[in-house]
Amino acid sequence: MADYQLIIIGGGLSGIAAGIRAARFGRKTLILEQHSLPGGLNSYYFRQGHLLETGLHAMTNCALPGDKRAPLNRLFRQLHLSRKQFVLREQIGSEIRFSGRKLAFANDCRLLEEEIAREFPAVIDRFRLLRREILQYDPFQPGPWRSARQFLAERLGVPLLEDMLLLPLMIYGNAEEHDMDLGQFAIMFRAVFEEGFFRPVGTMREFLELLVNQYLHFGGAIRYRCPVAKILVAHGRIQGVRLADGEELTAEAVLSTAGIPETIRLSGWDLPQDPYCGRMSFMETIALLPSTYAGGRDWQQTIIFYHTGKQLRYQRPSTFIDTSWGVICFPENFQDQIPAELRQVRVTNAANYSLWKALSTSEYLSGKEQWATASIRASEEVIGPYQHAVVYRDSFTPLTIERYTRKAHGAIYGSAVKIKDGVTPWPNLFIAGTDQGFLGIIGAMLSGITVVNRHLLQ
Ligand SMILES: Cc1cc2nc3c(=O)[nH]c(=O)nc-3n(C[C@H](O)[C@H](O)[C@H](O)COP(=O)(O)OP(=O)(O)OC[C@H]3O[C@@H](n4cnc5c(N)ncnc54)[C@H](O)[C@@H]3O)c2cc1C
Repeated sequence: MADYQLIIIGGGLSGIAAGIRAARFGRKTLILEQHSLPGGLNSYYFRQGHLLETGLHAMTNCALPGDKRAPLNRLFRQLHLSRKQFVLREQIGSEIRFSGRKLAFANDCRLLEEEIAREFPAVIDRFRLLRREILQYDPFQPGPWRSARQFLAERLGVPLLEDMLLLPLMIYGNAEEHDMDLGQFAIMFRAVFEEGFFRPVGTMREFLELLVNQYLHFGGAIRYRCPVAKILVAHGRIQGVRLADGEELTAEAVLSTAGIPETIRLSGWDLPQDPYCGRMSFMETIALLPSTYAGGRDWQQTIIFYHTGKQLRYQRPSTFIDTSWGVICFPENFQDQIPAELRQVRVTNAANYSLWKALSTSEYLSGKEQWATASIRASEEVIGPYQHAVVYRDSFTPLTIERYTRKAHGAIYGSAVKIKDGVTPWPNLFIAGTDQGFLGIIGAMLSGITVVNRHLLQ
């Protein structure tokens, strides 16, 4: 008899959600996480007594508890968690800014419609039709890749508006450069513009505790600081895993949430790694300021997506980071949020993994300082000066992401080529999480659940 019915590689959000689902149905399940904490890309750490989150700007897919069909509520049902007891705080409001033009949006898409009517009156009817079409589009129907850019160009014919709509959807959920698949665009359009942003009460730590406790409650086991070094294969089936310290564990099935490149490396899967290494990675700088620091009007926003160039270039930049576009997030600006001792500004810019990777240790440290300053300066052009008031700042680069999550090339959204059915050449090895195709926090959890439901609960 195998040690476990299911071993899950990775204690990120997809792995924990998959674990809850499997354990709830009585499967003897073990999650193996290489890091000392759960959460993967969405975890937390401490600096100078402050808890800093690694990923969370906002969760998408906000929904009221009564809406049974909403992805968030379906997620809670699948995890057997009470949606009514889960208190969330909606965003105050966000903006897309392109060189003097701006579109505000919140958790009711009518605001975005009004904004488009104000900024682009000639095409408001076309936008309304497009919105209706996206709501009717089934992104989960199998089909060939379709260009979201072409779809937008044919329906709107206003490149500036098309770029403005694409920026938040790409930066929060697109693994491809330049363009995105229409299905993914439709998923993100609903997640961001129709349903909108929220944060759970508390920090990512409490949210992860809620999930891990639910998993343990159903009898699941989790081991931290346990990197899987090899997926063991014999007679055309997966037999189990070998840990970095040599210990071997047998399993009837293995679910990998570590990404396709890492799964190729672990299993000896006969696939080239390179085409599966995503190219979109980011540098994020977190600045802490006194909570009394007021800032200007912009400091009341939740998230500002900015772009100062001519045309949106959603691609790996040719410099260390591209400060011409990015995200500025104020994690305290959610409704009814209790002010923290210090307030945060997070600035995220696209970054070039290869350039960072080529640096020596000392060059890397000075490069981090230099580019964090450049990132803050660029954000000051948008929200006004604040560098003088910063009491602490920290940054992470594509290398930090790769180091702590083993996400190849620090590509947050993983490979541009997804394995949507979650299957591999072996009948008992499956892929879930980012490289299965659902992105972001809610997406990753839905991915873990979907793959377990489809392949492991029969
Ligand atoms: C800066 C940043 C900001 C973000 N902002 C948002 C946001 O505001 N809203 C949102 O919805 N999403 C956001 N995301 C994206 C979101 O965090 C991810 O899409 C989601 O968490 C992915 O979850 P996952 O389980 O698929 O992958 P991961 O989180 O990468 O989980 C995989 C896990 O596998 C582990 N692992 C890898 N290899 C091994 C091995 N060999 N052995 C054992 N364990 C292994 C890793 O340590 C990791 O914990 C952000 C991400 C980042 C980095």
